[in-house]
Amino acid sequence: MKKNSVRYAVAGAIAAALSFTAAHADAIRQSKAPFEDKFRQLEGEDWPSPTDYRNAAGAPGYRYWQQKVDYDISTRLDEATSTITGKAAITYRNNSPDDLPYLWLMLDQNDFKRDSISHMTETVSGDTIGLSQVRRAKRFQTWEGGMTIKSVKDAQGRPLKFTVVDTMLRVDLPQDVRANGGETRLTIEWSFPVIETKIIGGRSGYECFTAKDEDGNCIFEIAQWFPRLAVYSDYEGWHNKSFLSGGEFTLEFGDYNVALTVPSDHVVAATGELQNAAAVLSAAQRERLAKARTASEPVYVVTPEEAAAAEKDRAKTEKTWIFKARNVRDFGWASSRKFIWDAMGVKQADPKAEHPLVMAMSFFPKEARPLWDAYSTKSIAHTLKVYSDFTFAYPYPVAQSINGPQGGMEYPMVAFNGGRPVKDKKTGALTYTDRAKNGLIGVVIHEVGHNYFPMIVNSDERQWTWMDEGVNTFLQFQAEKQWDAKFPSRRGEPKDIVEYMVSQDQVPLMTQSDSLLQFGANGYGKPATALVVLRETIMGRALFDRAFKEYANRWRFKHPTPYDFFRTMEESSGVDLDWFWRGWFYSTDHVDIALDKVVQGRLDSGDPDVEADTRRSERGKEPTSLTASRNAGQTVVERDPKTRDFYTQTDEFLVTESAKKKAKSARDDLEPEEVEAQAVKDNFYRFTFSNVGGLVMPVILKLDYTDGTTETIRIPAEIWRKNAKTVTWQYVSTKQIKGAELDPLWETADANRGNNVYAGAITPTTLKISKPPEVANRMKDADLKIEPGGLTALPNPPKKDDK
Ligand SMILES: [Zn+2]
Repeated sequence: MKKNSVRYAVAGAIAAALSFTAAHADAIRQSKAPFEDKFRQLEGEDWPSPTDYRNAAGAPGYRYWQQKVDYDISTRLDEATSTITGKAAITYRNNSPDDLPYLWLMLDQNDFKRDSISHMTETVSGDTIGLSQVRRAKRFQTWEGGMTIKSVKDAQGRPLKFTVVDTMLRVDLPQDVRANGGETRLTIEWSFPVIETKIIGGRSGYECFTAKDEDGNCIFEIAQWFPRLAVYSDYEGWHNKSFLSGGEFTLEFGDYNVALTVPSDHVVAATGELQNAAAVLSAAQRERLAKARTASEPVYVVTPEEAAAAEKDRAKTEKTWIFKARNVRDFGWASSRKFIWDAMGVKQADPKAEHPLVMAMSFFPKEARPLWDAYSTKSIAHTLKVYSDFTFAYPYPVAQSINGPQGGMEYPMVAFNGGRPVKDKKTGALTYTDRAKNGLIGVVIHEVGHNYFPMIVNSDERQWTWMDEGVNTFLQFQAEKQWDAKFPSRRGEPKDIVEYMVSQDQVPLMTQSDSLLQFGANGYGKPATALVVLRETIMGRALFDRAFKEYANRWRFKHPTPYDFFRTMEESSGVDLDWFWRGWFYSTDHVDIALDKVVQGRLDSGDPDVEADTRRSERGKEPTSLTASRNAGQTVVERDPKTRDFYTQTDEFLVTESAKKKAKSARDDLEPEEVEAQAVKDNFYRFTFSNVGGLVMPVILKLDYTDGTTETIRIPAEIWRKNAKTVTWQYVSTKQIKGAELDPLWETADANRGNNVYAGAITPTTLKISKPPEVANRMKDADLKIEPGGLTALPNPPKKDDK
């Protein structure tokens, strides 16, 4: 017992001593300014190691592989019950180095099951409710979405075991699909009720025109509608994270043969090329379609009159439209008897384009006229031109924009876009706002633009929204500004992202898509702006455009990760951008650089008289001490002459003969080049910048001179590499500065312009000439010198002190 207590006492003392030293060490640590190196490399820290599949340069590696999945689908739309039924024969080719015992497929419609993760975890806030929310909640009491899987069979027709996990479907295979090129086939039969988009939401669905004076017809936009193979990749294995309705998806490339059976008076738009025009279009329509190929303005393939006639009746028969699409990652379609269809051929600039001529086509109801006739197809043509300039020739034969319930959603060759004129409820008069017009042009550019990212440059949207939405919004901004210099773009201008970047509740761009806060600003606005800043401010257009094109072409029809993008941009430009990715993609810092101080320095002339005059004149500009001036006439020195001496009679700047002599001898010691340097009369300006926002950025400094000229100096961001908080930078000029301003063109998203303009007085200062420290020379001090014969030794070396 005792022994123990002794031991405890000793242990206690040691613990106390330890905690004392720890506290002491902490105190020392805290007294040192914390230093964060904003330029440390991401390689080896945040980025995965390169592999044979994706290399250190950001390109697909020499053993890069990806799977291929082909689909043969026949499906039927039952208009009366708004139901899709289908049968898909799927061929899966396993190019991976791994044998696969099962396959994962996506059943995105299961999102709309009452017990889906997505539906069960919807949260509410505030104490109000919209009528649309009431209607949605009530609809879910009587209606339920989701896919019914009728059968899953192998190539021989034998049933396969399958398991549904929320929005995912695992199919267990009797034998592994062999690595390195093994193939398996399966057939799936399924059905699902189509969503009424206006009530339920979602990325596809139907819309019926059932108001009093409307024709009662519907538009069906069908997407995420068949069991789609999930991606199996070298960096993730199976991409089988459930769909929570935020993070979209990624899919494998493959070839599609799709037969769509719909009421015979419907017009169908779909991914791919129509194979049986003779069976579904009239001779006149086929002729117009052919004419549209070389037309310079959109040509109606289905005229407004034909659509109006179709709206009046309901066909009892059905027709099957057959489409083929090669090398696509998905398939979407739309069907309605309301569709007017216009088309125009777009010639591609790239002589190597797979399709030298692409058909730009739009499908819309009369309610979308005349906005859609005027702008939809022309916006598609413009998108293809601008996006291809930045990336590669559009590799598909058609690009289509479809008006229906969806405000904006993309699939290969197919985009669902909202935007219509408004009808006055009393008079029926049609008008449209400038917002609706620009919104339509903007959304067509955006959704058609998605063909490039992520439909062709196939990033994983479920993980990284910025890789498709951000990159696409960047290109959308470029296309909008090439449509009209005054186009009111919502996103892309640096000044427009400031409010978001200073806001609370932010997460870095490198956050999984379903966990993003402020989805639009984070997924679209901030990354788009980052790329604008990268292009215009950091890299310059030539380096950026070359690198961006390299990325697009390297990963065209492949699966890139963020690291492939980051690496490619650096590798092909030679610009170190780790600090930029760290700041814009990995942090929630914002940009705010302040110009704290401007000092105007002149060199010390070395002439004591000149220096004394200068200092005296500088002192003369300072106000007298308030206390001293109020005491004037009452001090002892003033009242009693006997207290005055040498020091009260001269000022501190008096130049003595001895000081003059010393100065002359110092001047005589100077080498000619030093004399020349000391005679320099230029202004040595010193600017002190502080980084208030935390995000390091180039410092763009505009100087206004008294002679009326201005100069803008672009200091690279690396100025912050040794001190990311405050730095002083020097600039030499013969001119006289009268003002200075940071970021005069508002190109860096600087959050506070109030600290950018230097309005304070420019502080004058004299820069003393510093001398290299003198090195002690005991040989010289001992009055010795090198002897002609060699090393110098003392004539009488001191004797050793022998005891
Ligand atoms: Zn988008």
